[in-house]
Amino acid sequence: SINASFGMALISGTYASIIQALGASTRVFDLMDRESLLPHDGVLAPDTTETGVSVELRDVHFAYPGVPDRPVLNGLSLNVPAGTCAAIVGASGAGKSTIAALVQYYYAPIKGQVFVAGVPVGEIQHEHLHSLIGVVSQEPVLFARSIRSNARFASPDATDEDIWRALEQANVADFVRDLEKGLDTWVGERGIKLSGGQKQRIAIARAVLMNPQVLLLDEATSALDAESEQLVNDALDAMMSGRNRTSIVIAHRLSTIQDADSVAVVSEGVVAEQDTHDNLMKIPDGVYANLMRRQLAGLGASTDDLPKLAQQ
Ligand code: ATP
Repeated sequence: SINASFGMALISGTYASIIQALGASTRVFDLMDRESLLPHDGVLAPDTTETGVSVELRDVHFAYPGVPDRPVLNGLSLNVPAGTCAAIVGASGAGKSTIAALVQYYYAPIKGQVFVAGVPVGEIQHEHLHSLIGVVSQEPVLFARSIRSNARFASPDATDEDIWRALEQANVADFVRDLEKGLDTWVGERGIKLSGGQKQRIAIARAVLMNPQVLLLDEATSALDAESEQLVNDALDAMMSGRNRTSIVIAHRLSTIQDADSVAVVSEGVVAEQDTHDNLMKIPDGVYANLMRRQLAGLGASTDDLPKLAQQ
């Protein structure tokens, strides 16, 4: 799922600047193809400053281009009211990242519709759509540029003061402060090499600065050591709890699942169940309840095995 995850790795911004930043990467072509899907002259979503932004997938059918006979979503419906947090769980390959890609309109459904703030995504002007949605992915993309320009990538007007505040909230300010060149430190090729957790926290700072009304989050942090994981998780928790923020989280932590307003279980191309963790656990023969019970009985309080169990 390289295409989808790469798209998700980008925090909004204009496609032109992304393409510029990427230079001659082959992925540029994916992005250019993708851009054609997004209308420049679309409508703006209604003013959502006070209400927040709802996200809804309604009876969505989807297969990736080129593989029409391998449907990924088969009439999936998911409703995430404004200001709430939905945790998405399901087996590897169930289609969780695909849902996030469709919300960003990187692909159009074959049938059914995706609404953001009540407006079909395909009708929303693309800069506007992407100014509403912030993404923190499993493999964040940082550019071979300074930490400053990476952080303010989606918020070009941010001042250094804003950036420091965001770095603080993302638990990475101490690290940057200790660097000789601070915000001017170059990262990536010809710059310093960052650990997975440092990269991820700079990507979180980017999302914090953007302060998006919708947050799409993949919280898998399997590549991180325990200390780094704690710093990342704390930063993510702070982000999700932002006022009026609507979050869709591909959840890997039990605490996220328990705190979420709803948990959506994706299986066989549909949302098989969607409710709070507590209510789902009460369904006598529920998919979720069965998986969780087996897991909690034998494997401790991590949900990382949920996908594996679901495949058996
Ligand atoms: P994981 O938990 O492993 O990240 P997921 O639930 O997020 O999995 P998706 O990445 O949405 O699953 O993938 C759903 C299905 O679509 C998989 O069978 C995957 O192989 C396929 N797929 C994903 N991206 C593409 C693509 N760009 N082109 C073709 N098939 C794809």
